[in-house]
Amino acid sequence: MSTTDLRQRFLFPDSDIRGEIVRLNTSVAQALQARSYPLAIESLLGEAMAAATLLTGTLKFEGRLSLQAQGQGDLSLLLAECTHDSQIRGLARTRLSDTASDTGSTSEQPPMAARLPALLGDGVMAITIAPERGARYQGLVPMESDTLAGCLEGYFTQSEQLPTRLWLAAGNGHAAGLLIQVLPEHTGSADHNAHIWETVTALAGTLTMEELLTLPVETVLHRLFHETPPILSPADTVRFGCTCSRDKVRGTLLSLGTDELQTLLSEQGEARVNCDFCGNEELFDAVDLGQLVHESTR
Ligand SMILES: [Zn+2]
Repeated sequence: MSTTDLRQRFLFPDSDIRGEIVRLNTSVAQALQARSYPLAIESLLGEAMAAATLLTGTLKFEGRLSLQAQGQGDLSLLLAECTHDSQIRGLARTRLSDTASDTGSTSEQPPMAARLPALLGDGVMAITIAPERGARYQGLVPMESDTLAGCLEGYFTQSEQLPTRLWLAAGNGHAAGLLIQVLPEHTGSADHNAHIWETVTALAGTLTMEELLTLPVETVLHRLFHETPPILSPADTVRFGCTCSRDKVRGTLLSLGTDELQTLLSEQGEARVNCDFCGNEELFDAVDLGQLVHESTR
């Protein structure tokens, strides 16, 4: 299996129907290294990272897209982000114990069939698009399907009015996704578009999740669409990328204020702050904390 994470965009000839396939190997593994999750949550996090990557495929500006779900259930937060230049990261917060997967016992884990809405409990999901310049946009994703892919298809139908089909798969530290979508501007004939849409979405539906996750991207595209071969764009490399920095941790510590920083210094003697996305630890020792106390009084 290739270790390169990639996004392959394609277009069906003489039609207004595009597609995109993403394959994430190392980037999902990196997100899973930062924290330990129960298996069902690992899969959902992989699916969310693949989905966020697919959804940035249409971004026309520099910025970041995030897919975020929050709830009161066993899964309290699911977050995946992708930038215009295909840097992704993601995390989940769960009330489930992850020791169940370590010991081989699955008694504390929901079955894989316990899907997104059940795991989230009374949950909400949103897509946020944050351009580097300009206003943020946020759209709510209706939680009307058991799967993340189904919920996102509902989002495109309701919010964007763009017929969209989405397949997501994740497991063993890998994730993959396939998207077929009608373009917003139509140049081809309506009959031809309808014919291509029906044909290619039916064909894509024959792909097993195992095939999506493991076969080379070229093999998947050839197997599905060899009778209407899509035109391929150059593939993009996708990689894990975190925006955490020592400077941001510094800002967070400073925002605690002089009294709390002084208490931290006298009681702990240091501060260790871990990034939830990548696991990176920033250590502020007694000298650093003393400096922050000094700065906070200015
Ligand atoms: Zn980080």
